[in-house]
Amino acid sequence: MGEQQHIFQIFKRVVVKVGSSSVNYLNGKPNMSQIESLVRQLVDLYNQGKEVLLVTSGAVGAGSGRLGLKGRPKTIPEKQAAAAIGQSILMHIYEKIFAEYGVTVGQVLLTKEDFSDRRRFLNARNALCTLLRFGVIPVINENDTVAVDEIKLGDNDNLSALVAGLVDAEILFLLSDVDGLYTADPRKDPAARLIDDIYEITPDIEVLAGEAGSCMGTGGMATKLQAARIAMHSGVVTIIAGAGKKDVLRRVISGERDRTVFWPLENKLENKKQWIAYSSTVHGKIFIDKGAARALLGQGKSLLPSGVIGVEGVFELGNTVSIIGPDELELARGLVNYSSSEIEIIKGLQTRDIASLLGHKDYDEVVHRNNMVMNI
Ligand code: GLU
Repeated sequence: MGEQQHIFQIFKRVVVKVGSSSVNYLNGKPNMSQIESLVRQLVDLYNQGKEVLLVTSGAVGAGSGRLGLKGRPKTIPEKQAAAAIGQSILMHIYEKIFAEYGVTVGQVLLTKEDFSDRRRFLNARNALCTLLRFGVIPVINENDTVAVDEIKLGDNDNLSALVAGLVDAEILFLLSDVDGLYTADPRKDPAARLIDDIYEITPDIEVLAGEAGSCMGTGGMATKLQAARIAMHSGVVTIIAGAGKKDVLRRVISGERDRTVFWPLENKLENKKQWIAYSSTVHGKIFIDKGAARALLGQGKSLLPSGVIGVEGVFELGNTVSIIGPDELELARGLVNYSSSEIEIIKGLQTRDIASLLGHKDYDEVVHRNNMVMNI
């Protein structure tokens, strides 16, 4: 009998977020030893067959450092300019170190709109999943150079939780200059104790989070709790742990308790699909045949063009539609991968015919299983 595995070891898709204070020194210069050790740990996970996504802060900080600015820039255009410079500095470093270990990285810069607009949400997900399929580690940050206030998430804790939900990750690491959530501020109270496991974010826990944060990053414990809350609702295990600790990822994954874990809610699937089921506007209907109804209901399959017999309404890629079975009853709701006019053309046909008829084939499915909720 082998040693018993810790539950974290069976997780396959991992998002790791690292904060500005772990990537840069206070003067904005890159902290090479910490970046190097982070990359080595990520490659080690990757080599174990895990799919790894890195969300990295530090662009504004690194840009400010290169420009010799004192502290974080104040105005939005200055932040945007600093981010443009710093983002390429960061990518240059990541690309170089990951390449030394034979791993390819791909830069992905996102804004808030990539999550709130379903079409862009699907596009972002497809891009990230394709990178993973190619064996690439996506290196993600907010697109600070173009993101003005209205479209900004503002902090990478929230961004990383949304990314984890976007790609259906199982585990999210928020690596930071703190080791987790304490019962009191450990810098002031020697009796402060690390909280191991959190199952619900209560008002008491929010009080503990306070307002901590360094001058380089924008986060702090408050944004980590927001992130944990998003992740918990998406079924993702979230872990806050110290970025500077040696082999922190390996040690936490193997079960060491030097961290705080936020456990997801039981009814995660319901929460995840609530948006489709209840929040989104239904733009039209897709009528399907008996075989497709059986495949959806009985076998948990996606909806392919071959099972579609009719379309009603005008809708675009990413809209929510109602899926109607042969007995005229609504069987499911889901997000479409093709517009109503495109589905008119490909209905009843095989997936292989899509490209020649539409001139493109971005998806095999009309509605993917992951974007579908049954029996509303
Ligand atoms: N996106 C910002 C940057 O790269 C950081 C946001 C954060 O610190 O959470 O500088």
